[in-house]
Amino acid sequence: MAADAKYQGGHPQLVTKIIASYVRHHNVSPEQIPDLINLVHRSIDTLGKATEPQAALIPAVPIRRSVQRDAVVCLECGWKGKMLRRHLSTRHGLSGERYLRRWNLPSDHPLTAPMYSEQRSSLAKQLGLGRGGRRSAAGPAGAATGSRRGRPRGSRAARASA
Ligand SMILES: [Zn+2]
Repeated sequence: MAADAKYQGGHPQLVTKIIASYVRHHNVSPEQIPDLINLVHRSIDTLGKATEPQAALIPAVPIRRSVQRDAVVCLECGWKGKMLRRHLSTRHGLSGERYLRRWNLPSDHPLTAPMYSEQRSSLAKQLGLGRGGRRSAAGPAGAATGSRRGRPRGSRAARASA
């Protein structure tokens, strides 16, 4: 057909094939064909573009280096800090979950620096243990009376360090 010779798109053979096959299986009037060519052409171009941004996704730092002991690094921009979650939502409008999916990271990939989460959990432990610290006024006098009560619970305190 003469129309084929004028076609300037990126995939002339593919478009021709699709159109030819479509026309063979559907009842298409001649005046519909230019629209059809346009539509197929645009669809193919859109497909090609849609995959580009994903291929160009390059982390600001290598993923292996994005988690350090005292900091985590944002793969989007290279920002480095103790916690990524807030940075991701304010800077990139991403939730932690979307960020992990975007970069194909496992769901247990840390978004908080390991050292910082350790500190927080040990602080919580210290606070928890500290609550038991309200002793009856101790001293030599207390120790004298204390020897009389044989509380079986006392043995549990020895396990607290484990
Ligand atoms: Zn960032």
